[in-house]
Amino acid sequence: MRLSTLPNLSLSSGARDFIDDARLEGLLGGPASEPAVVRDLIAKSLAKEVLSTEETAVLLRATDPELIEAILDGARRLKNVVYGNRIVLFAPLYIGNDCVNDCLYCGFRRSNRAAVRRTLDPGDVARQVTALEQQGHKRLILVFGEHPRYDATFIAETVRQVYGVKFGPGEIRRVNINAAPLDVDGYRLVHSAGIGTYQVFQETYHHATYAQYHPENTRKGQHYLYRLDALDRAQEAGIDDVGIGALFGLYDWRFEVLGLVTHALHMQERFGVGPHTISFPRIQPAHNVQLPGTWTVSDADFMRLIAILRLAVPYTGMILTAREPAAVRDTVMEFGVSQIDAGSRIELGGYTEAENAQHAEREQFVLGDVRHLDEVMGELIGQGHLPSFCTACYRLGRTGEHFMEFAIPGFIKKFCTPNGLLTLQEYLVDYASEATRAAGERLIAAEVGRMEDDSLRRELEQRLARITGNGERDLYF
Ligand code: SF4
Ligand code: SF4
Repeated sequence: MRLSTLPNLSLSSGARDFIDDARLEGLLGGPASEPAVVRDLIAKSLAKEVLSTEETAVLLRATDPELIEAILDGARRLKNVVYGNRIVLFAPLYIGNDCVNDCLYCGFRRSNRAAVRRTLDPGDVARQVTALEQQGHKRLILVFGEHPRYDATFIAETVRQVYGVKFGPGEIRRVNINAAPLDVDGYRLVHSAGIGTYQVFQETYHHATYAQYHPENTRKGQHYLYRLDALDRAQEAGIDDVGIGALFGLYDWRFEVLGLVTHALHMQERFGVGPHTISFPRIQPAHNVQLPGTWTVSDADFMRLIAILRLAVPYTGMILTAREPAAVRDTVMEFGVSQIDAGSRIELGGYTEAENAQHAEREQFVLGDVRHLDEVMGELIGQGHLPSFCTACYRLGRTGEHFMEFAIPGFIKKFCTPNGLLTLQEYLVDYASEATRAAGERLIAAEVGRMEDDSLRRELEQRLARITGNGERDLYF
């Protein structure tokens, strides 16, 4: 598509480019971190205080192995103490891969003539959602390329359609969006369809790298600020659950961490609430994509970046996707991840049409973890995690959920854990394999046994029995 046919791009009121590359580079070039200062900052984070960019840079400049271990351990403790053992599960659903952009790292870029283009029609959407419900999913993220056909009206209609698909006891209770930035009116329209989180990733916060990977004759290439301001406009439109992210591997991972933290602090300052989630995908191979690999993030650095993000922005949900292989996912989860996708297929129509097959020319990138949902559930339970499909806060109008679970003492014990157990019980009754069911029942019994609040435990036991005995669903606190 030619740029002249693109709509005028309007910004939020007071939009500004708050990423100062020279300042962030200056922070990264500071002196080696003092052990005592690093330990104080970890303690500050464990006391539930957000870190500044300067303080985050101190953690990023810590290279001594002992200090790195202290940072990893701090993140592990923060995750355990503040968030407990719960992991929320979701699945991505690719709706269409037409795209006017030409991001050099993406299999869907417009110059990749070999990419197979497709947009799901309403029948396709119904079949995909049905298949996801049959697996047991309750939370989806819909993914759209950037193309005029995927405008706000199209996105809103698709969201309504997804909510309307009900198969047996299955239903989708929360639909999140990953799509192109919209203007304020567009976000209002999408918001009216009842979306959860709207995600827009900046990809890279480094201006020169952004220009390098996003050709100038595309909307994304021309408009760093339009993208950076995207979620401010979403907030202005009333969407207060927004997700930021960076694609790690385009530039120095330490710079991108500072970019994400700057973005989070900007939102907190401007709207009184930080981002709902942070995503940190690492670049993966994609069809017809060759990248220099200069900034490839090693597994060891990936752990560090997750741990530092956890400590810097302790109230924000952190999403780890199936781009990463199972072994990496299992390792890094303990440093602060709160949501993962499972049973994912990213080929258009992949939930019904290509069981287990991967077709690179139909995918944005190559998936690292293609385990089935039940397998992931079984493994999470085996590792002591509580897999959860909870959507209670959103359904009860408790938005900003991650902030509440973080900020309100006892919120997790009172709400997140019992709700996670109720959704797990539903899963065990409706969808689980025998082995997962047995392991899940043991986990539920152990968690219920650990509950200190007697009246809450009795109420929970009653609700669990109503799911199993009466066939009731969608019970939550
Ligand atoms: Fe299009 Fe998104 Fe791929 Fe860029 S990353 S080419 S905007 S689908
Ligand atoms: Fe998330 Fe709220 Fe459920 Fe806790 S109770 S898991 S914060 S939706």
